[in-house]
Amino acid sequence: MEHLFSVWPEMAERVRGAGRVVLLTDFDGTLSHIAGRPEEAVLPDDTRQGIEALSSDPRVGVAVISGRALDDIKEKVDLPGITYAGNHGIEIEGPSLRFVYPPAQAAKPVMRRLHSALGRALSGIDGVVLEDKGITLSVHYRLVARERVGEVKRICEEAVDGPRSRGQVRTTGGKMVYEIRPGVVWDKEDAVVLLLASWTPSGEAAGLTFFLGDDLTDEGGFRAVNARGGVSVFVGRPGRDTAARFFLRSPGEVPGFLRRLAAAL
Ligand SMILES: [Mg+2]
Repeated sequence: MEHLFSVWPEMAERVRGAGRVVLLTDFDGTLSHIAGRPEEAVLPDDTRQGIEALSSDPRVGVAVISGRALDDIKEKVDLPGITYAGNHGIEIEGPSLRFVYPPAQAAKPVMRRLHSALGRALSGIDGVVLEDKGITLSVHYRLVARERVGEVKRICEEAVDGPRSRGQVRTTGGKMVYEIRPGVVWDKEDAVVLLLASWTPSGEAAGLTFFLGDDLTDEGGFRAVNARGGVSVFVGRPGRDTAARFFLRSPGEVPGFLRRLAAAL
């Protein structure tokens, strides 16, 4: 895996050659530094300016694809003219696209039941943040004492056991988070494929696609852009197994990437 800036001269050449760019990016840990509580994460000013500058260029399409609920990610980024995908791409809204993956809606009642059951079961554990995202649920344990993390996971596993065995929900892990999602498989990989299709009406080339992410849930996005000749960028220290071909060391390097991208166009 190579640092994106170390290959920038040839990457800039590819950008110029394509003449158009689609920028798909995760939010937490990619654009923003990870915060103790999800509501504390902020979009850094220079990153906001970089995205704003790119999105005002008609040759650029921008989408932020997040595990957050759609309304939450829209509020966090708060820029007009770009596409937002929430709940790992189950809900998408943008200038040219409005989409909810229909089977995911069916999971809402079971999510509501799990939310109240987990609220009770986890109430005695300090630091747990139970986040109701409508179609999905997240249990954040970053602020939980280390010796009680196992207990949090066990409580979650017990709660989901029934609905998961019936195929109503599935569970995934991330950075200090336990996620409960609808049993239907629709994730960032599917969302990326759908988004790219929306940017290529009548077969017109969308241009060069970049996908930026930092976590396990982004691997599908990396694979999807790799398969379509795009550029997959892991944000973080390289070391873990990932499908991404390039990396940036932290969200702090993203503004520099955005400036280079704008300059290459
Ligand atoms: Mg992330």
